[in-house]
Amino acid sequence: MAKFTYDLVVIGSGTSGTTVAFEAQAAGLKVAIIEERSWGGTCVLRGCDPKKVLVGAAEARKLSTRLRGKGIKQAATISWTDLMAFKETFVEDVPESRLESFKEAGIETLFGPASFHDPNTIQVADDLLHASKIVIATGATPSTLQVEGQSFIQNSDDFLSLQKLPDSIIFIGGGYISFEFASIAQAAGSEVHIIHHNSEPLKKFDPDFVAALVANMKEEGIHFHFDTDITKITKKGEKLQIQGKNDFSLNTDLIIGATGRKPNVDHLALEKAHIDYTKKGIIVNEKLQTSNHPHIYACGDVAATKGAPLTPVVSMEAAFVAKNVLGSDEKMNYPAIPSVVFTSPKLSSIGISVEEAKANPDKYQIKNHNTTNWYTYKRTNEPIALAKIIEDRKTGQIKGAHFLSEEADYMINYIALLMKANLTLADLQSVIFAYPSPASDLTALN
Ligand SMILES: Cc1cc2nc3c(=O)[nH]c(=O)nc-3n(C[C@H](O)[C@H](O)[C@H](O)COP(=O)(O)OP(=O)(O)OC[C@H]3O[C@@H](n4cnc5c(N)ncnc54)[C@H](O)[C@@H]3O)c2cc1C
Repeated sequence: MAKFTYDLVVIGSGTSGTTVAFEAQAAGLKVAIIEERSWGGTCVLRGCDPKKVLVGAAEARKLSTRLRGKGIKQAATISWTDLMAFKETFVEDVPESRLESFKEAGIETLFGPASFHDPNTIQVADDLLHASKIVIATGATPSTLQVEGQSFIQNSDDFLSLQKLPDSIIFIGGGYISFEFASIAQAAGSEVHIIHHNSEPLKKFDPDFVAALVANMKEEGIHFHFDTDITKITKKGEKLQIQGKNDFSLNTDLIIGATGRKPNVDHLALEKAHIDYTKKGIIVNEKLQTSNHPHIYACGDVAATKGAPLTPVVSMEAAFVAKNVLGSDEKMNYPAIPSVVFTSPKLSSIGISVEEAKANPDKYQIKNHNTTNWYTYKRTNEPIALAKIIEDRKTGQIKGAHFLSEEADYMINYIALLMKANLTLADLQSVIFAYPSPASDLTALN
């Protein structure tokens, strides 16, 4: 076996692993990074970025549909083949260019599954890499529903590389991936069903807005089957048949499972380094160090941190880990984290929930706004635009916000900025925003 020595070994070349590796290398450490699949990881290859290209086409379809008869003659139609080819232009060069940029920076790259040999040594094929510090940034992969016929279920990776859009698709799961993909597939012309085992999809978002979103998606033609436990999947000729409790049965061309993601810990041989983990991921302390070993860190989707598994969050964790690897001794502190469901309309959320605010009426006040008739939303004939802002009663500072509209992603980002700066909506009276734009509505939410 060949033996090598590094200051830092990073396992995984996704957003988090890449961030740590570059920052440590720039500070002068001798760094190696290991990848077993494709250089670049989930977000750029099979997550946020390719998905958002598809979302763009769905938005064009939906906007042109809404403006039909209002200056637009006919709704745009999506060519799935062209769309996938366009998407591919964002993805195809990533692995090679990421690999190149590691090499150019002087970061050693190894390809293959990495596992622990002992607490200071990582094994990749026949190579043993001894390291003073190790960062586990192996991300997560789609979990598989345990059900008879589960081999017929495909996952988000498959949807994002689907060469032909089938006539009908069933998405299993009530999370954001299911909702976003359903919205895309429906816009592109498929008959779409979402099956969820309870009646509370998108659990982390405002329940009223989720209900309004579901109603809207139903109106668009998406079929929802809540409280439906799947029992069996079989192939019937060309079709797949999905069966559930209480005589539920549905035929379809394609089944995409989006029932959660599991941390990639299986092949790491964590027991050889006595690193503890649960099904939520590798257990870390506030410095993102693993149990028993201050020199081994975990961050990103593989780690059971307090941060949501979202790209900007894992980037922040990775930048934090890089600092600690380089000698800092800080505790991870998360700002308010915005999250968005890129459906049509979009749903977004930050900070505390309305439920939490209602439980503390002396502390918080909730402002409900139905902005559907505001110029911003009428201009593009949006069917619904809602906002809820939660403020601290004493200071007026924003503690939470929830939006449902085509502009919900922009609105939540403005709120994230206000929350970070401890500004109130009243403070915005002295800011001039370009008009007409969604930002110029902010002061009216006060
Ligand atoms: C369909 C989808 C849509 C998403 N949309 C959004 C969005 O809109 N906005 C957002 O913020 N987030 C989104 N996310 C989440 C986001 O992509 C992830 O939070 C983020 O990419 C995680 O980065 P990471 O570095 O922790 O892990 P990853 O990017 O998954 O990187 C981990 C890497 O480690 C490698 N690896 C694993 N095990 C080993 C091993 N033993 N040896 C060597 N290498 C190994 C893997 O191959 C992988 O390349 C989406 C995710 C999905 C799946």
